[in-house]
Amino acid sequence: MVTLKGTKVVSGIVIGRLYVYMHPDKHISRSTVEDRSAQIELFNDAKKKAIEQLEELHESSIPYLGELNASIFVAQEMLLEDKQYIDYVYKQIRESGYNAAYAVVLASDEFSRLFTSIEDKYMQSHVADVRDVSERLLRILCGAEGEMVQPLEPCIYASDDFSAGDIVGFNRDNVLGLVTMFGSPVSHASILAGTMGIPSVVGIGQEMLSIYDGRYAILDGVKGELIIDPDKRTLDRMKRRQKEYEERQRMLLLLKGKNNITKSGKYINVYANIGSAEGVETALLYDAGGIGLFRSEFIYIESLTFPTEEEQFQIYREVLEKMRGRKVIIRTLDLGTDKQASYFRPEKENNPAMGYRAIRISLSQPELFKTQLRALYRASVYGNLDILFPLITSLDEIRHTKMIIKEVTDELDAENIEYRQDLRLGIMIETPAAVMISDKLAKEVDFFSIGTNDLTQFTLAIDRQNPKLEAYFNEIHPAVMKMIEMTVNNAHKAGIPVDICGEAAADLGQTQKFIDMGIDALSVSPNMVLPLRKKIRECE
Ligand code: PEP
Ligand code: MG
Repeated sequence: MVTLKGTKVVSGIVIGRLYVYMHPDKHISRSTVEDRSAQIELFNDAKKKAIEQLEELHESSIPYLGELNASIFVAQEMLLEDKQYIDYVYKQIRESGYNAAYAVVLASDEFSRLFTSIEDKYMQSHVADVRDVSERLLRILCGAEGEMVQPLEPCIYASDDFSAGDIVGFNRDNVLGLVTMFGSPVSHASILAGTMGIPSVVGIGQEMLSIYDGRYAILDGVKGELIIDPDKRTLDRMKRRQKEYEERQRMLLLLKGKNNITKSGKYINVYANIGSAEGVETALLYDAGGIGLFRSEFIYIESLTFPTEEEQFQIYREVLEKMRGRKVIIRTLDLGTDKQASYFRPEKENNPAMGYRAIRISLSQPELFKTQLRALYRASVYGNLDILFPLITSLDEIRHTKMIIKEVTDELDAENIEYRQDLRLGIMIETPAAVMISDKLAKEVDFFSIGTNDLTQFTLAIDRQNPKLEAYFNEIHPAVMKMIEMTVNNAHKAGIPVDICGEAAADLGQTQKFIDMGIDALSVSPNMVLPLRKKIRECE
């Protein structure tokens, strides 16, 4: 029996076989091979496949990115046809006998270095393309194109780390739980696991080995442990704990239909955070008062190419109809950092969390933004929709957003397409800048939603993705709490409501404080709705 300790992310106790999947591109080794022509052939096949993918991407992205922006894929295709790049890879295989994947890693390094050394901004911009095409080749060579062969029976999925994209691609019925060697509890992968209610543990370290694949295990998401090959006594004990846990969950269900009301009679809205139309079922199962945050980027991550207006419209409509008039807050695209769509690959950045993401992508690519806004406005007549904009730092961004919305509504008017005239527009308060000017921002929008995950990251200068800094990532640090309070006060002065949709909303130790501050709503993973209701009913 082996017990590995990690950090609990989503509670629950599950028992089953382990399915261990290590991402191959993170494990490329420098090996020499006997059969060099076989490696050349492998490389040629990968190159052909990569070119086909890029051609497809180019075609499908023109309507959204425009011809000019989409031409990046043509430039990348050309790089894959570049004689010098290809010859360099061939040389590493033929002369040094390296395997194809390692030869590509060397070519990527060499050509990035070459382009960086040229004192010409235009040539330097090719570095990102070199890295991108090389990564694409590596994913094909290592079979890591999301083609992870998933088990046919329910298993506990284990990996070096899961990306949000991995989780979106899983067959939910077969995932008993998730456990990772690395990873952080506030990464988007962890948050997604929470919204899907999958018991999860992260950061159990390097002792998680591929040889455990197929072994019987217990994942304890309450304590943050993975027990491999449990002995009979442990198994019996854990089965008892599992029963008790499930019993507690059943008791919580008795709170369905009850109000989120404090002892002194104050009503607090409790909403659910979701990442897909299916999330609505769980939100309703746990009796959420509405959807406080629909992270629409997961629609993009799940898709093989940019989702069309019609595809998005159908999803938003389905969510609104299923929620039958309850509030639904849909946040516009927040791609970037650990939320990447395979077909949308902006240049590599040193600090992606502070980089080209969220509203910055939407405002710089109005066609992409307008496609989503049109879908949202069209869907608005099917329910009680609010639209939320991520990562706002200035008044200009709001004004620019409103200008684009005006273009969209003018177009819809001209086409005689119906939409709700009283749609409420809100912004995420998740940067210190937004907090500091929240008095001014409050006059421009209809509501605020506080994103404590990013707000903590930026206030404390702590990368939410870095497992080494986990001990320092404190969403209730006095500085963050002060920012929340300031935001609430400024919102209320301007007469608009404010909620918290970051993970801090589910911290039951803070519920009383949030109520005292005057927060109007808390939005949490669906499985936290009832525990939060129970807590609110115990508060003053
Ligand atoms: C947040 O930053 O708190 C938030 C809710 O947004 P996300 O976790 O998607 O970045
Ligand atoms: Mg955020």
